[in-house]
Amino acid sequence: VAKPDPILKASGIKRRFGGLTAVNVDHLEVQRGTITALIGPNGAGKSTLFNLLSGFDQPDEGQWSFNDHQLRRLRGHQVARLGMVRTFQLTKALTRLSVLDNMLLAAPGQTGEGFLGAFWRPGWKAQEKANLAQAESLLERFKLIAKRDDMAGSLSGGQRKLLEMARALMVNPSLLMVDEPMAGVNPALVQSLLGHITALRDDGVSVVFVEHDMDVIMGISDWIVVLAQGQVIAEGRPADIRSNKQVVDAYLGA
Ligand code: ADP
Ligand code: MG
Repeated sequence: VAKPDPILKASGIKRRFGGLTAVNVDHLEVQRGTITALIGPNGAGKSTLFNLLSGFDQPDEGQWSFNDHQLRRLRGHQVARLGMVRTFQLTKALTRLSVLDNMLLAAPGQTGEGFLGAFWRPGWKAQEKANLAQAESLLERFKLIAKRDDMAGSLSGGQRKLLEMARALMVNPSLLMVDEPMAGVNPALVQSLLGHITALRDDGVSVVFVEHDMDVIMGISDWIVVLAQGQVIAEGRPADIRSNKQVVDAYLGA
């Protein structure tokens, strides 16, 4: 569906794994300043689509643009520099670093550009100072500042999700893609995560997220896109999706 002010536009995106077409999206637009939920059964292609759009996987076919930048041949760190990022689960290596170092590693200039690239350029010291200030301010906002020197691996499931989101915000994105932010999060932290997502939207950051919990989806989404077998089978406002019997019966199990 065409949107009045799309921040992201994709067409003809295909990704095949052997004989399987995991993603086959004819057309998709994300309206600027909204929270868009991407939903669908396991294996529908949601994570693959995230990887493609954010430059961490390459499609077999397709074009997409972000703020009128063509992204087709860009790598993840280049896409991030333009202001579009996805969250990543903390890898085993990252769990052995402090919370603060996790933040600093996600800073601009550190993402896939190599050690020398991060140092041997004019102004790196000022940049490092700015990165530290931003990391600390995000850790305050996400209530992780008391944990700044703890190993990331010591965080609870919910705190890890908060750290994953805070890391992504180190590049000041205008579009944030979050894959299953509530997975493994205890109920006390779910509200806090939801609050952060709506606050980002209210600050002008567009958010696309993958989620299974219907209450969460209906509660915070401005728009819902339903993916099944790699294709967009329905999209609309929460009320429209909730009353779409075919979607509910087949994909939402409600
Ligand atoms: P979702 O996130 O909606 O659960 P995925 O995008 O992870 O779905 O997967 C979509 C389909 O693509 C699944 O059938 C999955 O097995 C397959 N798939 C995903 N990544 C790969 C890969 N690297 N190699 C082969 N098949 C893959
Ligand atoms: Mg997935």
